[in-house]
Amino acid sequence: MKNIPHRIYLSEEQLPKQWYNLRADMKEQPDPMLNPATMQPAKVEDLYSVFCEELAKQEMDTTTRYFDIPEEIREVYKMYRPSPLIRAYHLEKVLGTPAKIYYKFEGNNTSGSHKLNSAVAQAYYAKQQGLTSLTTETGAGQWGTALAEACSYFGLPLTIYMVKVSYEQKPFRKAVMRVFDGNVIPSPSNTTKVGSKILEEFPGTTGSLGCAISEAVEKAVTTDGCRYVLGSVLNQVLLHQSIIGLESKTAMEMIDEYPDIVIGCAGGGSNLGGLIAPFMQDKLTGKANPRIVAVEPASCPSLTRGKYAYDFCDTGKITPMAKMYTLGSGFIPSANHAGGLRYHGMSPILSKLYHDGYMEAVSVEQTKVFEAAILFAKNETILPAPESAHAIRAAIDEALRCKETGEAKTILFGLTGTGYFDMTAYESYLDHKMTDYIPTDEDLQKGFDSLPKVD
Ligand SMILES: *Cc1c(COP(=O)(O)O)cnc(C)c1O
Repeated sequence: MKNIPHRIYLSEEQLPKQWYNLRADMKEQPDPMLNPATMQPAKVEDLYSVFCEELAKQEMDTTTRYFDIPEEIREVYKMYRPSPLIRAYHLEKVLGTPAKIYYKFEGNNTSGSHKLNSAVAQAYYAKQQGLTSLTTETGAGQWGTALAEACSYFGLPLTIYMVKVSYEQKPFRKAVMRVFDGNVIPSPSNTTKVGSKILEEFPGTTGSLGCAISEAVEKAVTTDGCRYVLGSVLNQVLLHQSIIGLESKTAMEMIDEYPDIVIGCAGGGSNLGGLIAPFMQDKLTGKANPRIVAVEPASCPSLTRGKYAYDFCDTGKITPMAKMYTLGSGFIPSANHAGGLRYHGMSPILSKLYHDGYMEAVSVEQTKVFEAAILFAKNETILPAPESAHAIRAAIDEALRCKETGEAKTILFGLTGTGYFDMTAYESYLDHKMTDYIPTDEDLQKGFDSLPKVD
């Protein structure tokens, strides 16, 4: 048998030249996005006020199978890609499993996650169109950091509204964004009408993602040449993230491997949609039949307990409505939940694939997630982001099942990032202060009540 190295690197020439659009191979398309003003299917022009034109076209394009990656974007990708595919030999050994475990590591850049893959593309197209600034919100800070890096490269000013509680709890995240010239503002703030109003009503508030989004959006629509950008959920983001899966597939081909199971954590679905893209293509076209597994927190279970319904992609209710698995944009995850992946909805593409039976979903409790994270860190020397550790948990569980059945399955999972800014969460786990809150059906009903009425 061929001796497979621990780390399988692609050469720079093997960096993909195109992104892959999964929709081109789907038997049935996700339901169309609706313009909330008219409740009619959104037209590409409807999106121009929200997204830059090229990205709006990507958002709506269900037929173009491959999109050329502009040379300027590939040049930036080359600073940190191709990213390694790693064989988890040490983890396999400590688990005593016959399974072969591989992971694709996306934490090899300063933003510490896969989010840079789409941030670079979005900043590039904004610059191309002649826009002069961007705004966004950030909760935990990964998206803000990735976008700050991308905007600084293309010389585009960026304002980031950071939820105040994170701004105070994660001072070093803020410092990294400032290194990349990001203008970080704790939200709510006095720089917008909506922020000032909230501050007046609730002077001591520590903010929320919804509020930060509203501020970022107000800033974008009241500033000439400015747009608001999102880091997940959207079809365009999944398209950019397909680079993760394309590289993984090439690397596996080089060692004559093909996954029996592909596993990824799911917040808004961008890393998962990107990782599975070429494997799902094989499944849709009948070339192969890998199992595809989405992993979500038990405290924010959009796929496993959500409803398949039209909802707003953003809490600020300005993007078109999408049909997706959702807990309702009014759903507020428990404050005890430390592991990220708090988004109320799920990528419409993944939602449709899940609805049509091409994908499975599992939910995991956060103490089990941190247990897996620590076992992984000790055996693979990478301290994973709590989000990524959801995928680790599910991969370990699959590998342990293989141990029982004696099957030597090949498992591929996405290791989306590193967890150095999440040490408060790690500490709370190590101090046995972390709890496993699972919402009751009544808790979830409150979120479902916030769903827009569409018939
Ligand atoms: C944002 C993030 C996620 C979840 O987002 P998706 O859009 O679902 O991929 C997962 N892992 C890390 C490290 C992140 O920063």
